[in-house]
Amino acid sequence: MTDVRALLQRTADLAADFLDSLEERPVFPQVSVDELHAALNVPLQDAPMDPAHVVEELAAAAEPGLVAMPSGRYFGFVIGGGLPAALAADWLTSTWDQNAGLYVGGPSASVVEQVVREWLCDLLGLPADASIGFVTGTQMGSVTALAAARFRVLERAGWDVGRDGLAGGPRVRVLVGEQRHVTVDRALRLLGLGAPETVAADAQGRLDAGALRDALAAGNGPTIVCAQAGEVNTGAFDPFEEIAAAAAEHGAWLHVDGAFGLWAAASPKLRGLVRGVELADSWITDAHKWLNVPYDSAIVLCKDTEAHRAAMTVSASYLIQDDARLVRDQVDWVPEFSRRARGFAVYAALRSLGRSGLAELVERTCDCARRFAGGIVALPGVELLNDVVLNQVLFRFESDEQTDNALRAVQDAGDVWMSGTTWAGRRAIRVSVSNWQTRDEEIDLALDSFRAAVQAPAQAPAR
Ligand SMILES: *Cc1c(COP(=O)(O)O)cnc(C)c1O
Repeated sequence: MTDVRALLQRTADLAADFLDSLEERPVFPQVSVDELHAALNVPLQDAPMDPAHVVEELAAAAEPGLVAMPSGRYFGFVIGGGLPAALAADWLTSTWDQNAGLYVGGPSASVVEQVVREWLCDLLGLPADASIGFVTGTQMGSVTALAAARFRVLERAGWDVGRDGLAGGPRVRVLVGEQRHVTVDRALRLLGLGAPETVAADAQGRLDAGALRDALAAGNGPTIVCAQAGEVNTGAFDPFEEIAAAAAEHGAWLHVDGAFGLWAAASPKLRGLVRGVELADSWITDAHKWLNVPYDSAIVLCKDTEAHRAAMTVSASYLIQDDARLVRDQVDWVPEFSRRARGFAVYAALRSLGRSGLAELVERTCDCARRFAGGIVALPGVELLNDVVLNQVLFRFESDEQTDNALRAVQDAGDVWMSGTTWAGRRAIRVSVSNWQTRDEEIDLALDSFRAAVQAPAQAPAR
């Protein structure tokens, strides 16, 4: 018999060692893919192996290829780390190993989701009786919400998509901003809705409400509009009040991708950015980004609880049972059947932060983004490309080559890491401040790294 307690205690030490290493290690690992293959690709032996030995070897072999993603020096994509309480709750979630599809698969896992639902509707200023689903990411959040939208807009047109499918039914129009996230397109594809019609966006990536009105007026039939809270490069917010009014006039379902930006609603200072967002029909947001819950964790919320359930339920009934609010089977609200009890880590994150801690996290990271923007524009040839309204900074140097060279030099130096993008046809660098540990110190380190990069002569690509 393995001593499980000893194994878990040793594993906790390995985990803590990794967290301790975040202070110092290069943010992106300096290892080749061949080296990683060599380390991990051992022949699968025939006999069982001692678990302690397995874990020890796994940790040692994986270590050189780990990104310091949970560190405050990581500014790539839109990522976030793991709040200690959320990380610990996530460990317990694995240990408890509840099947959170059904209430009987883990009553506490079911109830904790309902509690988080209430907290989130309140924190984010959304309708108090919106329904919730806990999914892997905003990608699947969009699939869930847009399935609900598809059900409802077709039902209003006299078509039962659950029974009759899409073939032969009315065509569903889907209108999206030019700068919607790519996951919206994939969600639509998975749902058989095809490619969306795009509506013009402004220089910050905000959907143009006037263009949306024109597009809505130019067609008819069942319609879905997708808006965005937090453009992935600029952090910009669509004008929800105007969009919601236009959508309502045309009986369209309004879906909001708020993967990170929706959390602005939790800050009294920033809440104005999401004005009108509560008028939408569905919302999605990640817990694994700005809330700093470990992967994978996201939330979908629907005002039209009946459509939400109709689109996702595994029972034939479209009716919410009387007791659905008390005894809730999660399978009825998400696309998965067996699933991880994602509610525990979100619950722990929210409790450990509290209302003021959540607002502080959101505001501080936005302050950090502004500090970075203020510093980076002082470098020669830097052009700031976005209004820094949130936690995202987008900038470039004079030429695409200079931009890519500076980014590569900073990435290779290893003190910080951020990713590149193409914005308005030109190469750009994007900084996302989403980690709970990032403070002025890490921002100044990033600025120093860019200063050093532009002073050093351009290096040949490392790889
Ligand atoms: C990250 C992101 C997504 C996708 O979210 P996942 O959690 O990776 O599935 C969608 N929309 C926006 C705006 C994002 O930033």
